[in-house]
Amino acid sequence: MSADRIPLAGVIGHPIHHSKSPRLHGHWLRKHGLRGHYIPMEIAPDDLADTLRFLPKLGFVGLNVTLPYKERVLELADLVTDRATLIGAANTLIFRRDGKIHADNTDGYGFIENLRQNAPDWMPEAGPAVVLGAGGAARAIVASLLDSGVPEIRLTNRTRIRADKLREDFGQRVHVVEWVQAGNVMDDATTVVNTTSLGMVGKPEMRVPLDGLRPGTLVTDLVYTPLQTRLLRVAAEQGCTCVDGLGMLLHQAVPGFERWFGMRPEVDESTRTAVLG
Ligand code: NAP
Repeated sequence: MSADRIPLAGVIGHPIHHSKSPRLHGHWLRKHGLRGHYIPMEIAPDDLADTLRFLPKLGFVGLNVTLPYKERVLELADLVTDRATLIGAANTLIFRRDGKIHADNTDGYGFIENLRQNAPDWMPEAGPAVVLGAGGAARAIVASLLDSGVPEIRLTNRTRIRADKLREDFGQRVHVVEWVQAGNVMDDATTVVNTTSLGMVGKPEMRVPLDGLRPGTLVTDLVYTPLQTRLLRVAAEQGCTCVDGLGMLLHQAVPGFERWFGMRPEVDESTRTAVLG
């Protein structure tokens, strides 16, 4: 790409209208007075491979990837980071000058940065973590918690086989707990994370018993619509430290923005306001 060409980035998915990324990146571009555009693109499954090869020719420097393509882009990329390989999915692509597509996963980074910013006293190594859910997002959460020094993860999922698979992939610090037992393994946990879609607008409410939560436990929810889920509300009433899921979405976008537009953006209150509209 020539030096005077305006850098383009965007997010691909199917559907894409729900994505908050255009609002987020647009806010950062305006705030920092940068040249560049960030565009949502709904791509049909059959067009994915051609699109990835064609967009760099139009001046695209990279993409965010959302459902249902986070796994498939790994096969289409030329270089995949170790963490994206371990997680089995990528959310950030960089189109390099040499024509190669580089795939990374920044979800775990976003998850941990959100906790560091909003619960600075959180000590991952202080005790066991309970992770609810074993879907796509859970893999990044488990990887990042293990990386942060959590001594034990109690992983529980409605469909047990998905949790067993994570244990197989992530090793002995992961212990699978039956879904019906989820409420019974929280009393000595210092971290509790919901990675299921329960509690999200349009989905069933989370019914896991929460009376075992101890004051001071860090409780966080990946669901951010609504911001205040039942899990966070009950946890706050019980004296837990609560962090909502919006910050993860904001922080996971930082590395991509920096690579594409050449400036590391801040995640602050104005970022949240801009994204929430
Ligand atoms: P996914 O792969 O579809 O996994 C969904 C998870 O929710 C699975 O563990 C599933 O259990 C569980 N689940 C769904 N319905 C359930 C029910 N009725 N009872 C019990 N468990 C149920 O989705 P995902 O990509 O992991 O995303 C999960 C949530 O995280 C979504 O709400 C998503 O918006 C959110 N998320 C947030 C961020 C962020 O930046 N804050 C990033 C990624 C994802 P089964 O295996 O039994 O089906």
